[in-house]
Amino acid sequence: MNNQLLKAGVACGRLDLTELADNFSDLHPPLDDHQALVAADRCYFCHDAPCMTACPTDIDIPLFIRQISTGTPLAAAKTILSQNILGGMCARVCPTETLCEQACVRNTAEGDPVEIGLLQRFATDHMMDQPHPFSRAAATGKRVAVIGAGPAGLSCAHRLAMHGHDVTLFDGRDKAGGLNEFGIAAYKSVDDFAHREVEWLLQIGGISVKTGQRLGEGLSLEGLRADYDAVFLSIGLGGVNALSRDGGEWPGVTNAVDFIAELRQASDMSQVAIGRDVVVIGGGMTAIDAAVQSKLLGALNVTLVYRRGRERMNASPFEQDLAASKGVQIITNAAPLGVQKSGDQWQVEFEFSDDDLNPTGERFSLPADQIFSAIGQKLNSSELPELDGGKILVGEAGRTRTPGVWAGGDCASGGEDLTVTAVAEGRIAAEDINAQLAG
Ligand SMILES: Cc1cc2nc3c(=O)[nH]c(=O)nc-3n(C[C@H](O)[C@H](O)[C@H](O)COP(=O)(O)OP(=O)(O)OC[C@H]3O[C@@H](n4cnc5c(N)ncnc54)[C@H](O)[C@@H]3O)c2cc1C
Ligand code: SF4
Repeated sequence: MNNQLLKAGVACGRLDLTELADNFSDLHPPLDDHQALVAADRCYFCHDAPCMTACPTDIDIPLFIRQISTGTPLAAAKTILSQNILGGMCARVCPTETLCEQACVRNTAEGDPVEIGLLQRFATDHMMDQPHPFSRAAATGKRVAVIGAGPAGLSCAHRLAMHGHDVTLFDGRDKAGGLNEFGIAAYKSVDDFAHREVEWLLQIGGISVKTGQRLGEGLSLEGLRADYDAVFLSIGLGGVNALSRDGGEWPGVTNAVDFIAELRQASDMSQVAIGRDVVVIGGGMTAIDAAVQSKLLGALNVTLVYRRGRERMNASPFEQDLAASKGVQIITNAAPLGVQKSGDQWQVEFEFSDDDLNPTGERFSLPADQIFSAIGQKLNSSELPELDGGKILVGEAGRTRTPGVWAGGDCASGGEDLTVTAVAEGRIAAEDINAQLAG
């Protein structure tokens, strides 16, 4: 065994570059032309297709699959992108096993759905080096501010630009893309795809990107409402929930989203330090991604601990299986009590609890060089319209209680926190904004 794997503490270079490249390669390699035709051939082109109903962006799935099967992938891509301008990223990150592919009649009948996600990727990949397929309507002279350049903001900005409005897309970070750029697991978005997709999307024109500008720190909602004809808020959930009940920090604990962002931005993965023993606390996609990527970086022991039962985890069975297949140990029904230093390591103490979080009184500790917390995110901004349950309260088409202000994506109430949902909400709000500006 490689001694770097056994090295105690937190260290860089546990694996060599070849192993790292292999570990972080495409989770689902793309289909070639022949494989795409074979996969498309399995579609029944159902009338009232259930896969389409299950897609939050309402992509005409049977139509685009037929276009692939007739050898016109660019037409297929246009079918997808006209509903979901980030169809390339969604093809890579959508939990299709709980959306379109779960609903596919071939899944219901045979347990083997049409590979809709991979076919969507096949089609959209054809478009990425082509001229932009959409053009702008005549200029309206209206100006819209979009705050947050993640999937919701990008989708909204693109649709508004198509309708001829001038969009200013603000983001607090130094790069557009939101969690597509800083959050999605590295093995789901290889070859700098998130960045390439943003560049491709901006080819529509009429969108001016201003990075390093935050709502609540220089940008005020009142100022934006005065300067623009409409405002769309798509700031995601930048804050993280605290592990301790009193909201305080525990020593030795790192926010899993920060670790994932560091990994996504690293030009050399071998320079990302990882512990020999890693404990991840949480049960959603972020927890799974932090645990799997810790393992792929060369951590020897990775344990994911979730406070309720497995069926209550937000991570899908596919993701749980992925983690298990990479060697992540999953412990359920155990809530963290605290962290203590013991020699050079941390000891994370847990107590078993039932699904309603009633403690059993039985405790155990896990040794850890690194502890990642992934127990959910929360809004992290001031200057917001009325909130509901910690998110911006929205009604029909993302309208907030503040006139002239819409919101969508993770920061808005309702809907699942998924890339595809954010894209759908951005597009729907853009159509509503357009209708109001025209009226
Ligand atoms: C680790 C992780 C992995 C995930 N994996 C998946 C997956 O595999 N599949 C999937 O479907 N979903 C996944 N998700 C969820 C998905 O990424 C989100 O639902 C989606 O990105 C939400 O899009 P959004 O545009 O609402 O917000 P975000 O993508 O969070 O974008 C918000 C943008 O707003 C900016 N911003 C924040 N505050 C301010 C401010 N005050 N002023 C200006 N700008 C601001 C941020 O910099 C960011 O660019 C994952 C989430 C995480 C955290
Ligand atoms: S449900 Fe399955 S078989 Fe029917 S149209 Fe959708 S992908 Fe094709």
